[in-house]
Amino acid sequence: MNIKELDKKYVLGTYGRGDVEFVSGDNATLTDSEGKKYIDFTSGIGVVSVGHANARVNKALCEQLSKITHTSNLYHIAPQAKAAEAIVKASGYDMACFFANSGAEANEGAIKILRKHGERDGEIKRYKVITLKHSFHGRTITTVKATGQEAMHNYFGPFPDGFVYADDIQSIEALLDDHTAGVMIELIQGEGGVEPQDKVQVQALEKLLKSKNIPLVVDEVQTGGYRTGEFTASQLYGISPEIITLAKGVGGGVPIGIVMTTLKNVLSAGDHGSTFGGNYLSSTAVCSVTEILNELKASGELEKTSTYFHSVLDGFYANNKKLFTQKVGIGMMCGLRVIDADLLARIMSNAKDNGVMVLRAGRNTLRFLPPLTITKEEIDAGFKALSTAVSTL
Ligand SMILES: *Cc1c(COP(=O)(O)O)cnc(C)c1O
Repeated sequence: MNIKELDKKYVLGTYGRGDVEFVSGDNATLTDSEGKKYIDFTSGIGVVSVGHANARVNKALCEQLSKITHTSNLYHIAPQAKAAEAIVKASGYDMACFFANSGAEANEGAIKILRKHGERDGEIKRYKVITLKHSFHGRTITTVKATGQEAMHNYFGPFPDGFVYADDIQSIEALLDDHTAGVMIELIQGEGGVEPQDKVQVQALEKLLKSKNIPLVVDEVQTGGYRTGEFTASQLYGISPEIITLAKGVGGGVPIGIVMTTLKNVLSAGDHGSTFGGNYLSSTAVCSVTEILNELKASGELEKTSTYFHSVLDGFYANNKKLFTQKVGIGMMCGLRVIDADLLARIMSNAKDNGVMVLRAGRNTLRFLPPLTITKEEIDAGFKALSTAVSTL
């Protein structure tokens, strides 16, 4: 059986897979099983932040693998402690970390901190978590319920209680009550359609919540790890949340989820845990990826890449005003609104045929999440292929 047949027979059909099998990659360039090359504007949904087959990360991983991979969290793990230090220092916040394996699991950890924090020093049990209608927080039973999109709540119930959905940032205030344990938002909604929140509104929300001693969780699973130009989007927005969750980009392709928080003493020994979380392999990846990105940020290279990507994207948008209505996003998390969803599907399929991989977000947004190490040549080649792809529509 070929791979497609094996997949169909032995893997559950939870994904509408594109009909392509990549076998290798080099920075923002992918090669499929037939030897065809593609420019990768997806980085595996914002994961491969320092590019495919990054030599520095691979060297660090191979060295670690030749020593020790896993011992469990019952013992000290040097790279985990170093990864926590690197993450906290890059963020500039006075926080400590919990290590998990995915974005959803990081958000679960954040919700557990909110709930336990809500139970302290008071007769009233604060348990409600307010999230936004167009949010996306994950696929576990709890994070699917935390996700405000109604369509995600088909099947799987009964769900954990206590999630309340606000239409937008400004309508959160009216939903706060004595039972509110916390508010969880994305600063730039990713899956919801590349929707940046308004900075002034977010800062006003932060102030309001601080005055009421209600913790703010920022889900930075997609925005974290310099995706927006700063290590966290929270820094870019000039706010100090009590909890930030990270995942996708911070491990460069090795699965990891991180909860970082100023509420360092809420969880005690035994309250929470993870067998794999932050083992030698994943935390070594975090150390290496963070070091590389810190250097790119400090040298100005990260900003140069983003500026160049935007200038080429602007040109592409200007040349195709018949297809697109708006350019959206911040840093290397950006997109173009397509006039309708059918057209977006055709653009994506043509793009693949022409050798460039792009993403969808929401209903009608063409989304770009390129590796942060993408070169000028790769950006040029990608948009050249995309221009050809849309010229035949
Ligand atoms: C991808 C994503 C998640 C879920 O992460 P998984 O690793 O797939 O569990 C949660 N929140 C946001 C904002 C995401 O983009």
